[in-house]
Amino acid sequence: MGPDQSAQRSLFEDRPAWVDDDIRHGTVATVILPDGVDKPLDYLVPEPLVSSVEPGRRVRVPLGKANRLRLAYCVAVRSGELPQTPLKSVAGVEDDKPLLSRRMLELTEWMAERWLARRGEVLEAVLPSGVRMQRKVKVSPLLVATGLPGDRKLTPAQAKVLAAAAEPATADQLTRASGASRAVVTRLVKNGLLQEVGSVEARRAGASERPGISHDRPDHLSPAQADALAAITGPMRAGRHETILLFGVTGSGKTEVYLQAVEETISFGRQAIVLVPEISLTPQTCDRFRARFGTVAVLHSHLTPAERHAQWREIAAGRVNVVVGARSAIFAPAPRLGLIVIDEEHESSFKQATSPRYHARDVAEWIARAENVPLVLGSATPAIETFARCLAGEWRMCRLADRVGGSQLPGVLTVDLRDPTARARGAVSPRLAAGIRWALDAGGQVMLLLNRRGFATHVQCRACGHTMRCPQCEIAFTLHQPGNRGICHGCGLVVRLPPDCPECRAPGLAHRGTGTQRLEEQIRRTFPDAAVARMDTDTMRSRGSHEKTLDAFRDRHIDILVGTQMIAKGLDFPSVMLVGVVNADAALHLADFRAAERTCQLVTQVSGRSGRGQLGGRVVVQTSTPEHPAIRAAAVHDYEAFVRSELPIREALVYPPFGSIIRLVVRGLDEERVREWATHLTARLRAEAAACGAAEGQAAIRVLGPAPAPIPRLRERFRWHLQVLGPDGAILRGLVRRATAGLKTPPDLAWIVDVDPVDML
Ligand code: ADP
Ligand code: ZN
Repeated sequence: MGPDQSAQRSLFEDRPAWVDDDIRHGTVATVILPDGVDKPLDYLVPEPLVSSVEPGRRVRVPLGKANRLRLAYCVAVRSGELPQTPLKSVAGVEDDKPLLSRRMLELTEWMAERWLARRGEVLEAVLPSGVRMQRKVKVSPLLVATGLPGDRKLTPAQAKVLAAAAEPATADQLTRASGASRAVVTRLVKNGLLQEVGSVEARRAGASERPGISHDRPDHLSPAQADALAAITGPMRAGRHETILLFGVTGSGKTEVYLQAVEETISFGRQAIVLVPEISLTPQTCDRFRARFGTVAVLHSHLTPAERHAQWREIAAGRVNVVVGARSAIFAPAPRLGLIVIDEEHESSFKQATSPRYHARDVAEWIARAENVPLVLGSATPAIETFARCLAGEWRMCRLADRVGGSQLPGVLTVDLRDPTARARGAVSPRLAAGIRWALDAGGQVMLLLNRRGFATHVQCRACGHTMRCPQCEIAFTLHQPGNRGICHGCGLVVRLPPDCPECRAPGLAHRGTGTQRLEEQIRRTFPDAAVARMDTDTMRSRGSHEKTLDAFRDRHIDILVGTQMIAKGLDFPSVMLVGVVNADAALHLADFRAAERTCQLVTQVSGRSGRGQLGGRVVVQTSTPEHPAIRAAAVHDYEAFVRSELPIREALVYPPFGSIIRLVVRGLDEERVREWATHLTARLRAEAAACGAAEGQAAIRVLGPAPAPIPRLRERFRWHLQVLGPDGAILRGLVRRATAGLKTPPDLAWIVDVDPVDML
């Protein structure tokens, strides 16, 4: 709120009666622009619009000297004395109903402060674009064959379509039934051979075409599950907010507890929001919710804006009891919210990577607190921040220590990659190969995890050591076969790699490092009798390909599944007897204070995939640092041991959860300019930190940098970053806000502020 704003406010306060003559009365709306001016602006509401201007609706207001009309969010309305300075008037009202409740408006105000985002940007982020565009719910015309071909010659495709159109059907249904293209249908309508005979509302958005896999509701919960459920339903019945963490290994029955907590919520006539990391990676979780509750709004990234709008309206009307979705589903407009669940709460996808850079866990906590409802977090490997809040007694932790049905956690064998015999035959050590053979011979399945896509991770000249790099990012090209293509994993640039070194002309370049593609090839060669498939973003480009591969794996058409961390998540396959982590170190040495945490989480999660059935299972972890606490803890399935070893390190460095971080990243084409601006920002932050340290006793505030970011160049732009660290997040935010207020960014540069970053690269 700007200073002139508060000056206007004070004019509404009591005044002595004798000035009454001068005073005009009226209604004033405060609005926020989606972009441009960040300050709230006041407008007079003309008499005819008074009944329709209200907070949460959008209005059209004149802006600037030219009085160009702009769409803006009305966030407050008040009546009373008008300020003496003249106000412009609201020109019109856009929405016939508020798009945002008062609670959502409050939330956006809080979010803007919490993540140093522009309020307008936050308002845009919490509303799906289909809602903002008022996309009409789609209707599809019903078509039927008119039976008028006469002596016209039909192509085979046309004949098939007309046969399918004996009964009224939508164009989609016709193309699906006949295999013909959309153009054939359109042509037949033009020729009068198909006729429109009405319309149907397009398929209920998000309604799944996958048949639900029936998961029976168990008769009894285990004692640990019953305790966890009681920890949720207790506060729920009392109308009290509480955050409950279900800390349990994969297969310990967490999802069953969520399901029963949701049942309870619905029995109170209330709604539940369930957040999952990424819908396409968690089809089984979605299926279980669908199978149990029937109408479930599944908000996934493949929905069209119109479909999202339709879902949003169903939820807002209270016709849907359960909402399952990724990060942004937290903004589902549930009027009778009774429960929020976040599954796999440690996943970094819950933080938005573009502004507003919010974290869904924090947003969920704010909402749950405001609505007095429980927030349930679940994970086998909770974020250290979450764990710490439980240890501090702020949140409640419920442990689900054992797997349901008593199946044992698999034995974990670590293979030391420093031992030359381990590397003698490519990326798969003899012990891993023996493990694969053991599982296959016993009739089991195998999952192999390698967090690097492509064939070779870099291409290097044997003679001079020159490495092929992306000219835009300076990231080493990953070799993709076939075609000898170099693909930059930073910007996506694709080039054909030369046969000879461009530097020294020596022939033949070496393909170094193994990616999933090469691993797949090695595995096929070593196990010719096994059916092998690969799952990574290269093979999973088309819609539904995840589901197809996972279904094939479940149906045992695939013996060995090779993939990136995609395969590590939320999948429950009883026949997996061996899980191999091909290189556990890949993530361990990144310039990120969470590198060890991520590695421990990944190895623990993927290990949980093995031995879930009767046959038992094993895990083989290949690593060059078997003694690292993250690897050691994962090897004995003791995530908590890792947390306890990691907490003192974080404390010593005042890293989260013992402090906050705000990261600034500057980008631009000219490295010198980028460096200058980063230096300028750093100086302003240091000066502010010094003032702050003196005023607030915050001696522990540190400004680190400026320095080239760990990824120093991306999409041609150079990247420099700096970090502000300190024990108190609110003080840091105030500091950054003051230090950057009124800064005019040079047009050739861009910079962002990331509060509590999860991506440090
Ligand atoms: P998690 O979410 O922790 O991985 P799940 O809830 O998926 O665990 O449970 C693992 C398996 O055990 C699932 O197949 C589930 O249907 C089953 N299960 C869960 N709770 C029970 C129970 N109380 N009795 C019998 N089977 C159960
Ligand atoms: Zn690049």
